[in-house]
Amino acid sequence: MLTPSDKALVPFVSVDNMMRLVHHTGLEQMITRIANTIEADFLRWDAFDKTPRVASHSDVGVIELMPTSDGDMYGFKYVNGHPKNTAEGLQTVTAFGLLADVQSGYPVLLSEMTLLTALRTAAMSALAAKHLAPKGATTMAMIGNGAQSEFQCRAFKAICGIETVRLYDIDPAATAKCARNLADSGLNVIPCTTGQEAIEGAQIITTCTADKQYATILTDNMVGSGVHINAIGGDCPGKTELHKDILHRSDIFVEFPPQTRVEGEIQALPDDHPVTELHDVFAGRTAGRTSDKQITLFDSVGFAIEDFSALRTVLDLIKDTDMYDDLDMLADPDDPRDLYGMLQRSA
Ligand code: NAD
Repeated sequence: MLTPSDKALVPFVSVDNMMRLVHHTGLEQMITRIANTIEADFLRWDAFDKTPRVASHSDVGVIELMPTSDGDMYGFKYVNGHPKNTAEGLQTVTAFGLLADVQSGYPVLLSEMTLLTALRTAAMSALAAKHLAPKGATTMAMIGNGAQSEFQCRAFKAICGIETVRLYDIDPAATAKCARNLADSGLNVIPCTTGQEAIEGAQIITTCTADKQYATILTDNMVGSGVHINAIGGDCPGKTELHKDILHRSDIFVEFPPQTRVEGEIQALPDDHPVTELHDVFAGRTAGRTSDKQITLFDSVGFAIEDFSALRTVLDLIKDTDMYDDLDMLADPDDPRDLYGMLQRSA
């Protein structure tokens, strides 16, 4: 069983082992499993410690810590967001995270979370859309074809029944990469040369671009009635994707308002602008989509509980497998008070 062992070894899931785990489980199955765990955890919203993430900003990016606890387990993720990185051959987003046992305070899992963040972000997007997108939606525009994009497309296929994705990126090489990667996915993939072309006939529009500025990926005239917008890339103060007029025409759904009001698209709106919390929609306390004409907007920024859910899923999946390494990261002297003696004896 994966609990703190006699030797106080901590299971560690490397990038290699995460890739093995995804292949072993199946990508869409793993995304679906994470989405189910997120939904279950959002249904016990009151059990969690909730705090906006702790962000350290610089001119070029942000480094964040995302902690939460449900009283039994504690988790956190370390994550960065550096839009300029891709031009230097580095990822825009990298991450790792940890789960710990609240009773002992001992870690029970350390994991890479760059891949896992892509999986959980896609899972959360598709889960929100399951409750908000127009019924029978089959086509999604995918604007921004970077690291997250294929995961988003596969999640919407698995969870929302999307059949066609219309791709657009300012960098045609990114669109070509995304189309190539999705060739065997079972999706009908249509590369487009403008954002306007990409949204034609789409019932769902996902924006997933990276630029550290108030960008206008979608203008008001591009958004017709009845669509669902899944806005992923605006997740930091000074980094948004949608023209403000779209926000005024949309019903806006968020993860955790105290964080989204600082980081999301709604940073452009007054603090009392009405938003709906997704956990209320999942629990049936508040309606999601109520009409065919309504524009629904998931103003996604990524919240700590989603990472906690993703880590819980991984902890479950690696049980009885060899897809982790035991990490010697906790000192464990035979006599807990004899830390010094342990050091002396090791000389
Ligand atoms: P990435 O750098 O790999 O890809 C971003 C893509 O956006 C690039 O291909 C770039 O060419 C494209 N782009 C930039 N400006 C554009 C524009 N005006 N029009 C069309 N395309 C444009 O980044 P990524 O890892 O895919 O992440 C995408 C965004 O999602 C980032 O802003 C990241 O911070 C954010 N993100 C959000 C969450 C969340 O939970 N909400 C989670 C992970 C990442």
